[in-house]
Amino acid sequence: MQSIYIHTPFCAKVCHYCDFSVLSAPERLYEEYLSLLKIEMEIMLKRYPEFAHHTETIYWGGGTPSILNTQQQNKVFDILKKQGIYFSSLLEFSMEVNPESCFEDRIENAIQHGVNRFSLGIQTFHDDLLKRIGRSHDVETAIKALQTLLKYNSYGISISGDLMFNLPGQTIETFLSDVRFISEQNVDHISFYGLNIAPMTVLGKRIERGSDFVDESVYEPMYLGGVELLSKAGFDRYEVSNFAKPEKQSLHNKNYWNGGSYLGFGPGAHSFVGSVRFHAPEKFAPWRQWVLEGCPESSLSLDPIGKEERLIEKIWLSLRTSQGLNLKTLELESIPIPQEAIQHWENQKMLVRVGDHVHLHGRGWVYMDSIIQDFLR
Ligand code: SF4
Repeated sequence: MQSIYIHTPFCAKVCHYCDFSVLSAPERLYEEYLSLLKIEMEIMLKRYPEFAHHTETIYWGGGTPSILNTQQQNKVFDILKKQGIYFSSLLEFSMEVNPESCFEDRIENAIQHGVNRFSLGIQTFHDDLLKRIGRSHDVETAIKALQTLLKYNSYGISISGDLMFNLPGQTIETFLSDVRFISEQNVDHISFYGLNIAPMTVLGKRIERGSDFVDESVYEPMYLGGVELLSKAGFDRYEVSNFAKPEKQSLHNKNYWNGGSYLGFGPGAHSFVGSVRFHAPEKFAPWRQWVLEGCPESSLSLDPIGKEERLIEKIWLSLRTSQGLNLKTLELESIPIPQEAIQHWENQKMLVRVGDHVHLHGRGWVYMDSIIQDFLR
């Protein structure tokens, strides 16, 4: 499958834990970004025309794509159309939305242009926690945004509610109450990610100074408790952090996990074409210069993925999904997983074997990284 990713690097303000390629910028930069995005897409889609003709999913993420007003949104839709991408032939067109910019006119406009899936960055329904991690919205705004999206359910859109756990100050019960609440709304997809503390962020520095604290001991009960609640509510875990009602899994994300091709646009957007991985310059100014120079391949760091690297990647991408890892395929490629490693994790009841596949099981989903490292040793 082939996919396109568009990165809009602006946010109302930068959250305390964020280490993505984003900036809180004056609106005049939005217009410049859109002009540069147009140039980048024209050049890159000419270089890789297969993406103009055979793209099946688009994911518009960020940053905050919903920060753009309808006219600015339309510029992105126009660029895609002019490049020959027909929205009616897409299997999925997702857009990330943040509560503070989830306005009816923007959502309606996006739906009219073919967006059929919205991912709402709620993170938590607790104001004290939202403040502590530096989000731009409060709980009231998040609920209003959810209601705005739910109004369009009859248009056949999918809605994902995105949460975070293991936040500083978050208790097991506050997280589980978030999961319970979102699962009772009419959403068909939920994701929850454990907080990753990047050292150079505001939160990372606070933690290093000792002025904030994350209790790692609650990670496991939060994760397993959340999974249990969602399973009872009819959401299937199809990847370690992603849960969906039947037929509502994100096709775009599945393409990443299945090792499919994707072409990214915008500062820092990653691509995987043929067997080569590359990404555009991450910061806005170097990205601007790269685009104005004609997106030269020579200034990108190209990372060709060899057979062994591809198989290693397959191991960790497959294991994190409910499909599990096909041992037979690896054996055929002469990369057998050590039997004692499999046996060890089976004995711990963290791994189960079903036919040719092994799947994470129970607490194995929490210890995924250790299991994968053991497999790769
Ligand atoms: S909204 Fe998302 S992308 Fe933007 S600053 Fe916060 S975490 Fe980063």
